[in-house]
Amino acid sequence: MTGRAKSTVGRVDLIGGGPGPIDLLTLRAWRLLTRAEVVVMDRLGPTDIRDHVGPDVEIIDVGKLPGHHPVPQDEINELLVDRARAGKRVVRLKGGDPFVFGRGGEEVAACLAAGVPVDVVPGISSAVAVPQAAGIPITHRGVAGAVHIMNGPSEVTEATLAALRDDSVTTVILMGVGALPRIVSDALHAGVPADRPVAIVERGHHRDQRTTRSTLGSVVVDAGLAGVRNPAVIVVGEVARAGLLLPDPQLAGDIVL
Ligand code: SAH
Repeated sequence: MTGRAKSTVGRVDLIGGGPGPIDLLTLRAWRLLTRAEVVVMDRLGPTDIRDHVGPDVEIIDVGKLPGHHPVPQDEINELLVDRARAGKRVVRLKGGDPFVFGRGGEEVAACLAAGVPVDVVPGISSAVAVPQAAGIPITHRGVAGAVHIMNGPSEVTEATLAALRDDSVTTVILMGVGALPRIVSDALHAGVPADRPVAIVERGHHRDQRTTRSTLGSVVVDAGLAGVRNPAVIVVGEVARAGLLLPDPQLAGDIVL
């Protein structure tokens, strides 16, 4: 043995971490996480991983706060490629699902371009799981038969307006707290009814989860009164109506303003 560093390339696995609790990881994600030599993690998804990996595992937090990116995406890509080239088994732990507004595609492309073996393990997306945690099915027979998922900071497109106008479509907004006033104003100007139900679910699947119920016409004021903050998933549509599943929404601990 010459003591030379391993010359074989390692690998990168992008794993979906789900909405936060570690037991919402898939078994495949768990297996990869517990065998990783390097874990590159985010602000959302499971954050309490130190206890679940060996003491020698390098944990790198590249967590992003809204509007503030401590580690730029190209540096994250570089980090993944460099560690894998050094022969490491790298797990890129991402909140929710890596391919739902997670920039997972960019990380996969960077690994492929560098010739680094890469794979993706799907995760439970907050787009589905956070409404669910508040008792909101994003589809419901006879109520909503289609779902439109949008990224709050993006432009409100015709496709989004069409979804918002259609009372059989659920619109799910991620990263939407800051953009809510603009989205609501665009929607109301485009003729979306002001009484369209809205639910804002903060910190879904965490102990301090909170749901604020309102309507399109009142949600900006109500969100302000409730002091709604990120991370939150905003659901617009009939499925967000209080009492859809539970006759008494107060039982679910909701704020109904
Ligand atoms: N890839 C992720 C989404 C990343 S975008 C996924 O599939 O879930 C980040 C946004 O996800 C946040 O701004 C928020 O809208 C949402 N989000 C993620 N986890 C959340 C949680 N536990 N509670 C509420 N919103 C959450």
